[in-house]
Amino acid sequence: MEERDLKLHQRRQQRRRNELIVKCIISLLVLIVVVLAVILIKDVAVPQLTGKNKREPRNYLEQLQGSSMSAVGQVGDGTGSSPAAVGTEAELIAKADRMAMQYDYDGAIAYLKSAEGYTASQNLQNAVAGYENTKSGCSAYPLDQITHVFFHTMIKDNSKAFDGDSKEGGYNQVMTTMSEFEGIMQSMYEKGYVMVSLHDMCTVNSDGTVTRGEIRLPPGKTPFVLSQDDVSYYHYMDGDGFAQKLIVDENGDVKNTYIEDDGSISVGDYDMVPWIDTFVKEHPDFSYHGHKGIIALTGYEGVLGYRTDEVYRTKEAGRVTEYQQKFLNEHPDFDEAAWQKEVTEAQKVAEAMKANGWEFASHTWGHISPQATGIDGVMKDTDRWLNNVATVVGDTDVIIFAFGADIGGWQPYTSDNPYFSYLKEKGFNIYCNVDSSKNWVQFGDNYMRQGRRNLDGYRMYYNPEMLSDLFDVSSVWDNARPTPVPEM
Ligand SMILES: [Zn+2]
Repeated sequence: MEERDLKLHQRRQQRRRNELIVKCIISLLVLIVVVLAVILIKDVAVPQLTGKNKREPRNYLEQLQGSSMSAVGQVGDGTGSSPAAVGTEAELIAKADRMAMQYDYDGAIAYLKSAEGYTASQNLQNAVAGYENTKSGCSAYPLDQITHVFFHTMIKDNSKAFDGDSKEGGYNQVMTTMSEFEGIMQSMYEKGYVMVSLHDMCTVNSDGTVTRGEIRLPPGKTPFVLSQDDVSYYHYMDGDGFAQKLIVDENGDVKNTYIEDDGSISVGDYDMVPWIDTFVKEHPDFSYHGHKGIIALTGYEGVLGYRTDEVYRTKEAGRVTEYQQKFLNEHPDFDEAAWQKEVTEAQKVAEAMKANGWEFASHTWGHISPQATGIDGVMKDTDRWLNNVATVVGDTDVIIFAFGADIGGWQPYTSDNPYFSYLKEKGFNIYCNVDSSKNWVQFGDNYMRQGRRNLDGYRMYYNPEMLSDLFDVSSVWDNARPTPVPEM
């Protein structure tokens, strides 16, 4: 080897050694970063409320923990252990504050008291004293005076709903536009209304009896129940300015899709559920203990915009309606696997909704009026609901009758009412009809009933004075509505 070559060789060796050292340092740094990240993720991501508070659905805790927590997938393992608070003082207080903002003072107090440093922390103890103080100013709201308001699917594009076709009159009567809905909710929020669950109003006991619940609120706050019927995005509404379906977006939020004129799909808050979710993020005090509204579902054209009913799978002659046939013709590839995909997607949306504080009710499978259908028909219909809807959105003990019908008059249900006996046996404890009065609540030994007020074009146009406790019709009325609203 010549000297020149040797020097070159030595330089190369030196360079290799240097490179090796640099590589070692880089590897070490990467290792340190990874270890730090793991420690950090563990600290941040391990749910600060491990397990499930027995008194609250798991969803409530997930809401409090935020989506980054639930993304880790460790939330709410259902073991029923009491919450353990871990984090900095500021973090602990921020979480407890949010519970207290949603009127769950006991939850906020228990949460902070479970923190390891509680006894040594003046700040945590001061926060608890503050919650105790606010709590002592709360009183139980009279359950019989709780109002219940309901809507149908919101009109997103007025020009398409009110376009003069044969469906315009119906939309004008029973639907509400997005801008009206937003105005109504804003007004109710400003007046101190707070969304509660039907299950806050009553307690279903293991022996089947139903007893009064308790809703405690500070002065100036008024509980109300919110429901929405027929969130199916029925075929007949296609092209009429309504959302297409509900989806779970990449952030884990429930949103609507909407088909634009050019066929492109927009994603946004085009109906009640995502709009309320966004509103409560900004105004937590609109929700009692994280509870939101209740969605009343039929089953015959699927749920939440998904074609989940068995008929889309079996395509059974005689059961496929004209609209369904049109859908199947437009989707010749809608096979068993496609149907299963619809079911899976809808289940995912329903799970996300429940995790966000929403509940589901039966609106009967076929949108039937029970007494007009007869008991045999009700039995068949209920089986279909349980087999095609409960399998997607989960079980419920609430039935919200279609057409505002009921299975009896205003007198209490009795066991000789075959409809009541049957539905109670099938697990229904809470029954809702439609009633224009401000509040109508009835407690029986083994059920609760409540009337609901329709906040739609018909009511706003003909009886604005009946809504003045909630909002001023003239300030929310959408001028896109043709008038007069057709009479029923
Ligand atoms: Zn309905």
